[in-house]
Parts: sequence; C-alpha cells; structure tokens
Amino acid sequence: MQVINGIPAAAGIAIGPGFHHKRASFTPVRVQIIDSQAEIERLEVAIERSGRELQEIYETTRETVGEDEAEIFHAHLMMLKDPDLLDTVRQTINTEKVNAEAAFYEASETYANLLQNLSDEYLRARAVDVRDVSARVIRNLCDEVVDTSYLSAPAIIFAEDLAPSDTIQFEREKLLGFFTVNGGATSHTAILSRALGIPAVVGAGVLPDFISGDHTYILDGDSGRLIVDPDKSTLASYLEVQQSQREKFAEEKVTAINPAVTLDGKRVEIVANIGNLDDAKSALLNGAEGTGLFRTEFSYIEQSVIPDEDTLVDEYRAIFEAFDGLPVVVRTLDIGGDKEVPHLGLPVESNPFLGHRGIRLCLSRPDLFKPQLRAILRAGSRTNLYIMFPMIASIDEIRQARKVLDECRTELEMESVQFNQKPKIGIMIEVPSAALCADQLATVVDFFSIGTNDLSQYTLAADRTNSKVTHLANALQPAVLRLIKQVIDHGHNAGIWVGMCGEMAGEPIAIPILLGLGLDEFSMNPMAIPRAKAIIRQWDTRQAASLAEQALQCETPEDVQRLATSWLLD
Ligand code: PEP
Ligand code: MG
Repeated sequence: MQVINGIPAAAGIAIGPGFHHKRASFTPVRVQIIDSQAEIERLEVAIERSGRELQEIYETTRETVGEDEAEIFHAHLMMLKDPDLLDTVRQTINTEKVNAEAAFYEASETYANLLQNLSDEYLRARAVDVRDVSARVIRNLCDEVVDTSYLSAPAIIFAEDLAPSDTIQFEREKLLGFFTVNGGATSHTAILSRALGIPAVVGAGVLPDFISGDHTYILDGDSGRLIVDPDKSTLASYLEVQQSQREKFAEEKVTAINPAVTLDGKRVEIVANIGNLDDAKSALLNGAEGTGLFRTEFSYIEQSVIPDEDTLVDEYRAIFEAFDGLPVVVRTLDIGGDKEVPHLGLPVESNPFLGHRGIRLCLSRPDLFKPQLRAILRAGSRTNLYIMFPMIASIDEIRQARKVLDECRTELEMESVQFNQKPKIGIMIEVPSAALCADQLATVVDFFSIGTNDLSQYTLAADRTNSKVTHLANALQPAVLRLIKQVIDHGHNAGIWVGMCGEMAGEPIAIPILLGLGLDEFSMNPMAIPRAKAIIRQWDTRQAASLAEQALQCETPEDVQRLATSWLLD
C-alpha cells in the first residue's frame, strides 16, 4: 500500500480506479509577421470562438451543476474580454510584429505571474484561471480540437493541476474524486469539488507510482490522504465510513434550513462568511441565517481600479437584498497583511501583518474609507445592517472610525440621500490587545466578532502564511481559547453579543467548545453550515460548558483535540 499525504480540500471518501488527466501544455513559438492587421483579425476570430465555447460551458454548468459554479465561467468570459489585456496584445502585435499566439500568451503570462506572486492565497489561485483562458484562445488560434469525452468509466482523477474548465467537463456520474500535485484549498478545483460534493486532495507534491484503471485508490478528503491498492481490511473499513458519511450528509442537508437549537433549547445563530453575491446565494441555500462577515476587500483587489461609491452601492445592494431582512455584517476594508492591492501603489512593508493594515490604513486614507462607508449606508437603507471595523487594536481607533462614520451620515443627511440611520457598530477582535481590553472596548460598540485567523497568528507570533510556522497559529492553542473566553465574558458583561468569523467557527471539533464558552453567533464558509447546525443540535449547553472548562485547562492544542474527540465518542 502506498500512502501519500496532501491538503484536504473537499470532504468525503472516494474509492475506485484512477485516471491520469494530462493537460497538453504548450508554449507558442514567437514568429515575426508582416501584416499586423490580418494577425489582429485572426486574434479576434479566436476570441469570438473562445467566447462562444465559454458561453456554452457556462450554460451547461448552470443547468447541470448550479448558478454559483457556472459563475466561474462567467468570470472567464470577463477575463477573455478584458480591454487592458486585449489592448496590450494588439499593441504587441502592431509594434513588435509578432504572431497573435505569442502576443496573447506573453500578455496573459505576465498577468498570471503577477497574480501568482501575490501573497493572498485566493488571488494566487486565480492565476490558474488566467492560464486556462489563455490556453483556450491559443488552441483556437491554432485550430486545435480538444477531446473531453475520454472518461469512459467512473474514476478518481489524478493531475499535476486542474483548471476549472477541466474539472467541470468530466461527466459528474463518472467523477469520483480529485487528486492534484499542486494547488491549495482555495483553488477553483477545490471550490468546485466542494460545491459538487466531490472529495478532493490537493497540493500533495507527487503523484502515485501507478495511475490506471487496474489499481484501486482510496482518496480521503477529510484527512488529505491517498492510499494506493489498499489491503482488504483497510478497504472494508473505508467502505463502511464512506457509507455512513453518505447517510449523514443526506440527513444534514435535509435539515440545514431549520434553526440550530441545542438539546436544552438554546437557539444558536449560524451565519455565513461571504465575499460576493455568489457566496451570498450559496449561503442561503445552505441554511445561513444571514452573513456574519462580508469581506469587502475582494472587489477592490479583483478590479484594476478603485471602485467608486456608486459602483459599490450597486454591488452591496444586490448582496443586501439577497439576504432579505436577515442580519448582514459588513466588514470595512481590510487591505494589507496578505491582501495586497497592486493598483493602490502602497509602499512595501517589511512586516505587512504588523504594518499599515485594515483600520489603520482606512483611518489615514479618508479617500478610500469615506466612499465605502457612504456606499454601505446608502445601499443598506432598508437592511438589517451591522458595520464592523477590522484590526482594531485600541479604543481610540474605534472612536476615530465612528467619527468618520458620523461625518458620512451628516453628509448624506445634508444631501437628502436615503441611508441607514441606525446601523449597529461592531469590531473584529483579532488583535490580542483588543481581546485583553475587551471590557473597555465593549462600552463603545454594539457587538464583537472574533477573528481567530489573525488572533491566533498574533497571539502565537506565527505568520499564518508561512508554512514553517502555520501549525503554531492554531486556534485550539489554550492561549487562544483563554482569550476567546475572556472576550465572550467581557462582551456579555457589557450586554453585547459576541460572534466569531474566523475559520474556527466552522470547525466541527471546535464548535462544542465555542458553544460551551457561550459564543452567540457562528459565521463560517457556507458549505460548513449543514454540519455545524447538526453538531449544535446534538449538544446540551451545560455539557458543552463542562467540555469548554476542561479545554481551557489543557496544555496543548493536541490535548484539546483529544479531549473534544473523546467527548464526541462518549
Ligand atoms: C480572521 O482574522 O479571523 C478573519 C476572519 O479575517 P481575515 O481572515 O479576513 O483576516
Ligand atoms: Mg483577520
């Protein structure tokens, strides 16, 4: 039995034969041309054909998989029509007199490399999409026909990397799982796998020694493990786990729309982390009772210019309306750290996570901050609106941020524009100083939301993006648990609610502990909601409180993990 470990990207277990999907990688040769006008026309024909293909894939995906997944191909269509990219290509053809294939390849590679070198994981993963679009155009320029009907029997797909269009073109019934050498948990392959309910392991670094229909593979998307040619007993036990997981998932999905109420009758609010309208729709389908974190920075990062106030109003309004009266927690811009916005031209910092990030940047840039606050207030005139400031380290920052918000309200009042007069104001607790002084901060806000992703890295002094130390930035570290307890207690003593929007809130192992600590609101990735609700329904709050008390006394995150697991097995 060969065992390979990778990153668990989509939960579940797949068992079956393998199929090695090889992507034809092809770098066009740069050749000199004479007639640049004819070359540009050739490019335009290829762009048009690529557009028709993408439109077709978009429609098939929408019908067979779903609206959200289809949006990926809509984004590809947008990339295909990107005026900046096309201008660059045309200019290269005109001035350097080179063939369209090479000009298009070079321009899209420059863009893909730019994305690939960003420290934000999500944006890095977008480089694959740019290359996918580029390969399509180049294929069409070369009249190359691609055959996608090769999966003759159900199989686990093995690949160096998978582009979204590869992923989606396999027949769903024949698709058992994905295993890739490269990629991370936020690559589109991972996103699509989760949406399709296909187990996936990515970033394994290697492929198994043999890949064929004659071997049997177990792909464990929960632990990130691949087992090649398992022995009889391993196979039998995985088959059993697979069967019970299927039954459990079907049950959870049926009840996801119902509220999460503990055995002793406490209703717990389960909301979603979103970044755009697609996420909002997925959140609602999975039973979200609102959003506990709308990350607004992505629309600034994805566009090549700073969106203006009216553009933001349109974007926000569509999302707010989707939630139709449910609570919407909008986090103001959290740029900096690992979220770079190249077009803002911000100076390079030697320690960006300890630098001019989040609220610090916004307070020094009213030209960025005020249009966003005005857009949130305007778009949310009839919304159950909560405004949340990120990276708060001191009470003074809250006072300053509130002052800017008040200025925006006064301006809108004077302009006789409709806006939300009374949004609730809260902060993220993600810096240890804020957690330690939560009693004071609670006097000037309406709610807290704990950001364990940052709180863990700052508490443990371990950069969350540095693979050598990320294991230290673990939210189950007793030091982090103690800070969480302190924040919840201080919030409750001051009469405000306390939520959590860090990844920890959607982790099955952490949910009972957080319930026991008295967390009021859990905000998580939409797909994690059905499981989270099911877990909460199995607990009694007093029982959870005893578990939490013991967890606070543990010495290591591993001890906390063992403790929580032992309670689950009881
Ligand atoms: C967090 O830090 O936990 C959080 C939710 O914010 P982000 O991951 O966007 O930094
Ligand atoms: Mg954060």
